[in-house]
Amino acid sequence: MTGNQNIRNFCIISHIDHGKSTLADRLIELTKTIDQRKMRAQVLDTMELEREKGITIKLQPIRMNYSLDDQPYLLNLIDTPGHVDFSYEVSRSLAAVEGTILLIDAGQGVQAQTLANLYLAQEQNLVVIPMINKIDLPHAQIKETVQEICDLLSVSEDEILKISAKEGIGIDKVLKSIIERIPAPEGDLEYPLKALIFDSNYNDYKGAIAYVRIVDGQIKKGDKIILSASGVQTEIIEVGVFKPEMEKIDCLQSGQIGYLATGLKDVSQCRVGDTIVGDKKTKPLAGYKEPQPVVFASFYPADTDDYQIVKDGLAKLKLNDAALSYEPESSQGLGRGFRCGFLGMLHLEIILERLKREYKTNLVVTSPSVSYQITVQNGERLTISSALDLPEVNKMEQIQEPWVSLEIIVPSKYLGQVMKLLEKIRGEYKDTQYLGLERAVIKFEAPLNEIIVDFYDKLKNTTAGYGSMSYEVIDYRQGDLLKMDILVAGDRVDAFSRVVHKEKVYSEARALVKKLKEVIPSQLFAVSLQAVIGGKIVARETIRALRKDVTGYLYGGDYTRKRKLLEKQKKGKKKMKQIGRVNIPQEVFFKVLKK
Ligand code: GDP
Ligand code: MG
Repeated sequence: MTGNQNIRNFCIISHIDHGKSTLADRLIELTKTIDQRKMRAQVLDTMELEREKGITIKLQPIRMNYSLDDQPYLLNLIDTPGHVDFSYEVSRSLAAVEGTILLIDAGQGVQAQTLANLYLAQEQNLVVIPMINKIDLPHAQIKETVQEICDLLSVSEDEILKISAKEGIGIDKVLKSIIERIPAPEGDLEYPLKALIFDSNYNDYKGAIAYVRIVDGQIKKGDKIILSASGVQTEIIEVGVFKPEMEKIDCLQSGQIGYLATGLKDVSQCRVGDTIVGDKKTKPLAGYKEPQPVVFASFYPADTDDYQIVKDGLAKLKLNDAALSYEPESSQGLGRGFRCGFLGMLHLEIILERLKREYKTNLVVTSPSVSYQITVQNGERLTISSALDLPEVNKMEQIQEPWVSLEIIVPSKYLGQVMKLLEKIRGEYKDTQYLGLERAVIKFEAPLNEIIVDFYDKLKNTTAGYGSMSYEVIDYRQGDLLKMDILVAGDRVDAFSRVVHKEKVYSEARALVKKLKEVIPSQLFAVSLQAVIGGKIVARETIRALRKDVTGYLYGGDYTRKRKLLEKQKKGKKKMKQIGRVNIPQEVFFKVLKK
């Protein structure tokens, strides 16, 4: 007896905000997995930041029990994030299951991440159950959405479920379809242990926690295991499942999803994608393609005393975020900090925000950059991820930048405007296809640098919010790129250096010095702002001098008010970076980063 027949493992995937976490709520209620008193909306979004922003950042497994026609079933659901920056979370979740719900918002129709995530599921040959959500919306376009789904998947209309996760319509059919259409996991209880690590976390008492899908065999507390990639051996100190909190059980078996507390103090030994085995001779599973960071920026503590706090914070965040990379770095103006790599701008923002909140530290952030591949004149090749590392122009043979293939989905009526938008980035048009009756899918290739910062916002603005996009780095191509430095009162501010395209030098330089003039407060002397390329000034502005005494206008003898003001000024200074003669408040760095 394998005992797998009554197990179903599945994910919910979709474009962001199409209602995955809300559907998970309904399934949790229907199966009475969480006490009704503890239920709240999007209960699987446990992180403070997830709740506040209303988005899912981490994958989250939960185990549920449900009976259909008097048969008891064990259901393992994994809720996933929808944003493109977190698609590594999605692909790892998909590797742990046999099928997935593809959820589509009836008010939005198929969007870019619907497609991107569907491709990921198809790559792994998973059963895909399409569901149209939010049918309660007054502007729900059910017929059109059905058409789009039929174009996309070879299914007939009656295979598409129509539900409202919010109103609880059609939810019983969801579990029925999962049990009927998704196969029970293969694998054999009698075979030697083989478990895939699809996520990891760290606990001070239990060490590295591996989130696992048991493929073959079984495991219980006290069992000796080997981590295939590192070869490390350890003894399991606890076995359990997600409810969604970790809950101890006696034994995890073939086909099940749960966690193993490894006791390992070094999380890098318990790598995501690795296979846990009981015997060295067992062949490991394929694992995952490791994600490559594509956006880089440096974090410097605003208060140099916080260096250790930032270091510990990054190390802890990395435990639960396999895609984050960082290394120490130091800079003249900014002191000691870290060069960090991210999967995109939202990923950067989330890490920054978590460091600020969870570790109570303020950070200065440098302009985000992609990585570049450089060929130096002696033929040597190097990869750099910071404008500061760019060699002098006359020493460089060639510079290459990453290109992405973009997939943009828009209602056809916005096609013209979106094409105009695309003309402004240095890209190559590839193809347009139609999905259903009203939607166009545009394929385009462009330098990553052109789209990371604000292309998505522009797309949203141009399409009344209906446009969506996804992208993937495809290769590196040669570009006419130059390094631009910013001098403030004659001193270079490292954090503002960036790589710009030849054709955009003047517009970018002007925009940047103008912005700096707005955000850097006046000093006691006139401050020049210059954008410089290879020694040549390409744009300049001047901040006029300020009157000397900040308390001057408080004439009369109110000493306490005066003192308060001076103290405030002193406190303010702590949050500044002294660059040459000029004090630059930390917000300036954020404002410049934000555009
Ligand atoms: P996720 O990003 O896919 O996890 O989406 P969420 O579950 O966080 O839901 C995004 C938003 O859509 C929330 O404001 C939900 O309340 C709302 N929502 C989810 N399902 C429905 C539905 O069936 N009908 C309506 N009207 N709103 C829904
Ligand atoms: Mg969610």
